[in-house]
Amino acid sequence: MSPDRDDAAGLPPAPEVVQIEVGLMQNFCEILYCPDTREAAIVDPAWEVDRLLREVERLDLRVTTALITHTHHDHIEGVDLLVEKTGAAVVVNPREAKQVGAPGRTLVDAVDGRDIAIGKRGVRALETRGHTVGGTCYLADGYVVTGDVMFVGGCGRTDFPGGDTAEMWRSLQRLARLPEETRVYPGHNYGDTETSTIAHEIRTNRFLRCATFEEFRTLRERKRPA
Ligand SMILES: [Zn+2]
Repeated sequence: MSPDRDDAAGLPPAPEVVQIEVGLMQNFCEILYCPDTREAAIVDPAWEVDRLLREVERLDLRVTTALITHTHHDHIEGVDLLVEKTGAAVVVNPREAKQVGAPGRTLVDAVDGRDIAIGKRGVRALETRGHTVGGTCYLADGYVVTGDVMFVGGCGRTDFPGGDTAEMWRSLQRLARLPEETRVYPGHNYGDTETSTIAHEIRTNRFLRCATFEEFRTLRERKRPA
């Protein structure tokens, strides 16, 4: 990955996005959909799958895809139920695929740079390790779904198995190079607002304001809020 790579070049039109807070750990799910074909993806189905599917029905959508940012339980507990009810393909980084694999299930490797179609729209997988070994953000034209890599005003922990503070630093730097107006949809509702922008996070997120990796490491490994 070159440091000046333009992750957003050539992106397809962005899916419409509906953000829903679910469960007991302030998780955010997103429903991403194509308004033409009504095909939809659900990000990190874990909690309240029935409620998500009611919303899908209300919007007259058909779920074809589950997009997994990482495989901690609070992001994947509902994958089995969602697949059972919709037959959705599961998009996940190969390093974490075994946590959501099952006989007969369609898995799609979310390798870095891969475009995932959602009807006539689409998102691009960005490998962003650090919280987990296969952490993935999904970039659309104008927004990015960041899982537990970047929160509004925060970032994910790096002290779980597979976590790596240096990788997290690189992943945050990568997100910070996205177009500054890019809207951020985080994996938890931990901030002052439900979404943010890259520009706002660069200005205000203490983890992004660190000048050096050493400063970041000290801050990240001391703080254990998330
Ligand atoms: Zn997590």
